[in-house]
Amino acid sequence: MEQDLTKFNPVIGLEIHVQLKTKSKMFCACANNPDESVPNTNICEVCTGQPGSLPVVNKEAVRLGTMFGLALNCKINKDAKFDRKSYFYPDLPKGYQISQYDKPIAERGYLDIEVDGEIRRIRITRAHLEEDAGKNIHPDGLNYSLVDYNRGGTPLLEIVTEPDITSAKEARIFLQELRNIVRYVGVGTADMEKGTMRCEPSISVRKPGQQELPPYKVEVKNINSFSFAESAIEYEIARQTKILEEGGTPKQVTMGWNEKAGVTVEQRSKEQANDYRYFPDPDIPVLNLSDEYIDLLKAQVPELPAQKRKRFKNEYALPEADINNLINWKELTEYYEQLVSEIQEWLKTDQAASKDLDLQKLMKLGANWCLQDFSALLNAAHIDPLESKVRPENLAELLKLIEAGKISNSAAKQVFAKMFETGGEPHNIVEDLGLAQVSDTAVIETVIEAVLSANEKAVTDYKAGQQKSFGFLVGMAMKELKGKGNPAVVNEILKQKLQK
Ligand SMILES: [Zn+2]
Repeated sequence: MEQDLTKFNPVIGLEIHVQLKTKSKMFCACANNPDESVPNTNICEVCTGQPGSLPVVNKEAVRLGTMFGLALNCKINKDAKFDRKSYFYPDLPKGYQISQYDKPIAERGYLDIEVDGEIRRIRITRAHLEEDAGKNIHPDGLNYSLVDYNRGGTPLLEIVTEPDITSAKEARIFLQELRNIVRYVGVGTADMEKGTMRCEPSISVRKPGQQELPPYKVEVKNINSFSFAESAIEYEIARQTKILEEGGTPKQVTMGWNEKAGVTVEQRSKEQANDYRYFPDPDIPVLNLSDEYIDLLKAQVPELPAQKRKRFKNEYALPEADINNLINWKELTEYYEQLVSEIQEWLKTDQAASKDLDLQKLMKLGANWCLQDFSALLNAAHIDPLESKVRPENLAELLKLIEAGKISNSAAKQVFAKMFETGGEPHNIVEDLGLAQVSDTAVIETVIEAVLSANEKAVTDYKAGQQKSFGFLVGMAMKELKGKGNPAVVNEILKQKLQK
């Protein structure tokens, strides 16, 4: 579906649920463990809604919600309170969800993101704390359903944006930046694939210049990756544009995203509009946060992705793509900073050995290794950089060996794989595997002289102008050197000899 953007402009808002990384649930002492696989293990009378049970607010969830609100430039409501949101569904045994209605923990903030070199400010309407529902399970071939309450009562932060987003790409960038902030602040794991971060975009389109919001919006549910979010929004923009172009009016509906077919599908509409009948939960007192508490947390908000991006640009002068890729993995940025400080330390203390090495080049090389070979191995092993056996000082040493021409690139890959496996030091591995690159000109000269006298025809051909004979002679010399000759030195000496 092609869309003509001169005719209609997209209006997009996002609703994001983030599962908080607390030890216990929102209102009881049950474990908050998203990986629990045995149904109904982490449950008690509170999170299964037994009569007479009393909820107690999880302080850590309040702290995380407040920190996150501060990171999103929100106003923190000192008198934040909890309300009952009534609806009936088997995964919600109380018949209501404890949420926050008119006094959320945080409201009226913003997040600045960069889209195609331009800063876009997306306003945050609110961020509120609530409890999650359980999970209904519909086993194949059975005519009844089951409910697992392990997830029931786990703490969530729901973040709602104003409809300030104007394209699918902008929505994707916003979601990625929000995910980064969740991880940087330490609020949660924000893993869309595992459901610890979920998003529901609302999409409508309007004529350029039109100020008021369209009279309808389409919500899309069941999205579990950033690229699906982008695709679903693109699809909706095109679908609604087509309806408007044909003179129709899009309906206000809830859609699901069918990732296989790449289309949005209308979900069964509820029989009537929801009437949640919110009212203050009489069992939970108003939070009454003090100024001191909020100031204390404000001081604890760590360096956020945007600040770190700026600093990496100034301190390490890496290409923008490298910086963005590093920033998307908080632990990798921490590892990279340790790596750089190892390199700097070494350049300072061993000036004789480092006189031909360039800090800037080593930092760029370090970023390449972090983002390529290292990331690939870490992802395959499902571990974080600082959990791996490759210590930053050892990777720094490997980079020096490469830069100084002591080992070839392909040998470096073998050495690194071994380092990842055993945690060994590069110089030992190079020796054990016999991978040291021969840069000794005397050795290389002897080999080349032998190659030249054994291949007189190739020499004559080269002198007669056949360039490919040069490559052949390099190949023969490398073969003699068992692939360990320094290619630059081999080329250089061969050229000299052939000129004679
Ligand atoms: Zn419980």
